[in-house]
Amino acid sequence: MLTDSYQRRFTYLRLSVTEVCNFRCNYCLPDGTDCGPDARAQDLTLDEIRRLVAAFARLGTRKVRITGGEPSLRKDLPDIIRLCKATPGIETVALTTNGYRLSQDLPAWKAAGLDALNVSVDSLDAARFEMITGHDKLTKILDGLALADELGIESIKINSVLMREYNDDALDDFIAFVRDRRITLRMIELMQTGDNQAFFERHHVDGDTVIARLTAQGWQEKIRSRHAGPAREFWHPGYAGSIGMIMPYSKDFCASCNRLRVSSDGKLFLCLFADAHQSLRHLLQADEPEPVMAFLQEAVAGKSATHGLHQGNPGATRQLAMIGG
Ligand code: SAM
Ligand code: SF4
Repeated sequence: MLTDSYQRRFTYLRLSVTEVCNFRCNYCLPDGTDCGPDARAQDLTLDEIRRLVAAFARLGTRKVRITGGEPSLRKDLPDIIRLCKATPGIETVALTTNGYRLSQDLPAWKAAGLDALNVSVDSLDAARFEMITGHDKLTKILDGLALADELGIESIKINSVLMREYNDDALDDFIAFVRDRRITLRMIELMQTGDNQAFFERHHVDGDTVIARLTAQGWQEKIRSRHAGPAREFWHPGYAGSIGMIMPYSKDFCASCNRLRVSSDGKLFLCLFADAHQSLRHLLQADEPEPVMAFLQEAVAGKSATHGLHQGNPGATRQLAMIGG
């Protein structure tokens, strides 16, 4: 078991498989991908991923989320999903994507064993969506989400980063979207990173204002299990889907942390906003899980109680495409 000195248990690995992204989300990569031309060459190989996931699974990891950058830019994504799913101990394989390749590639991802899908959709208005992401792709992405339902993907979620001026007036649209769809739409409070300070200050919206509006409309908070992670979820008897809130600035957000992250070049991120990250790639060159497990156990023991966002310190994280959110 991976447990830290605050008795938090880590059963969930978020694995970035590339730092490269094809979108230009205004809060993340407004000028496009900022990695060098050889960034793809730094990505962990399939063998390295297999060894990494096996070591995590032996220490109690049950869920792997594949993220990025944009993970669907990797041609071997079905192989990555398949190897995660085949790892003894791993029960759930999830993917976070901008949805760009959903319509074309989802059948292959599903056949490889994908259980859960999170798609980022920050606006349901095509013009605003393009303004935020730099791409006129909303319709195509919504078609991909409908396909996910048809294919019977067990868990389908939309991630929407809450932003003043871009979507803070769109709560009613978001709520209407889940009326007849078995989708969870999760609003994520905008987080400050090294690169987005001015944007953060101008556009951050406090999630409590959304919760107050949900509650006034009869939405009720679901009871969370002890190891459920930091998202809060709301349900309503008149709706097939639900609404989630991820509020990293709320009190005690970090107390329910259940996740560890590994970057696409093999660095362990104990926290999204840690100041430094140690690489474990050198331990992934042979089929020997014990040194990887020892590294993880020692590192996790030193995990901090909370992030430093309240002090305006995003650590070494320039933007979340570096590690996958
Ligand atoms: N490219 C994929 C995507 O957009 O879904 C995966 C990587 S992206 C970094 C993962 C998630 O982090 C997305 O839902 C994105 O909206 C969110 N994100 C990125 N930067 C953020 C920020 N500064 N604050 C809050 N969420 C952010
Ligand atoms: Fe790319 Fe995702 Fe960042 Fe948007 S949020 S720029 S899709 S990594």
